[in-house]
Amino acid sequence: LDAPNPGRATPRVLSIAGSDPSGGAGIQADLKSIAALGGYGMAAITALTAQNTMGVIAVHVPPAQFLRQQLDAISSDITIDAVKIGMLGDATVIDEVRGWIEEVRPAVVVLDPVMVATSGDRLLRESAEKALRSLLPLADLITPNLPELAMLLGEPEATEWESALDQGKRLAAEYGNTVLVKGGHLPGPVCPDALVNTSGMLSRDVIEITGPRVETRNSHGTGCSLSSALATVQARRGDWEVSLQEAKSWLLGALTTSGALEVGQGNGPVHH
Ligand code: PLP
Repeated sequence: LDAPNPGRATPRVLSIAGSDPSGGAGIQADLKSIAALGGYGMAAITALTAQNTMGVIAVHVPPAQFLRQQLDAISSDITIDAVKIGMLGDATVIDEVRGWIEEVRPAVVVLDPVMVATSGDRLLRESAEKALRSLLPLADLITPNLPELAMLLGEPEATEWESALDQGKRLAAEYGNTVLVKGGHLPGPVCPDALVNTSGMLSRDVIEITGPRVETRNSHGTGCSLSSALATVQARRGDWEVSLQEAKSWLLGALTTSGALEVGQGNGPVHH
């Protein structure tokens, strides 16, 4: 295998995530985002969902050992410049992913701690929440939405930006990595996002970037898309602040035009 190559023009980015056959979230969203940001996309599927823009109808988690075979097949042949981890389904899957990450140690690991879809459907078994915490120290960047941030800390969900930032600081301190605190779930005319790190790995403890809020119901898959965009840009740029700026401005454009897609009757997908 050739050496990991930060700064590579076309980074090789692997999504380890669930499938959304309607194309809006999960690995389908990840592959479209990775391509849009100029990466080479790969996908190892953790779980299959039957879903559309209105909700999740069923979830099937194949044997975790088969996921491990997918991961080993890729890493025994291809140098992986960045990994994005999304839906994991259950604890057996988490254990396999943890074992593989510990062995391969990819240069960039972004973990989107997916637990419950916007539709309210569970994407991670409740009994697997502890196992998910065991994966957090292996991630460079964690990208929880506000309900996920609260759940990981065992605290009530933040209802204002300052308390969300405080929660982000607590999570970052607990796991020694960087947390992206996302303001998308809060009301208001603007949408702040912040990289939070309390161990001096960033130029400042809190790097906040605020952009306009796009009023649209077509936001299905936004979290998936942002985390894979960040993994892709970070593999090329190697600087989280630059990566957030680039990924966020790309996502703003994608959300702005998502209404034109006309896909489904529910929460339509982001336009990649
Ligand atoms: N389906 C899969 C496979 C996902 O990974 C996710 C989110 O990560 C979703 C659905 C939910 O997407 P949203 O909450 O944006 O509707």
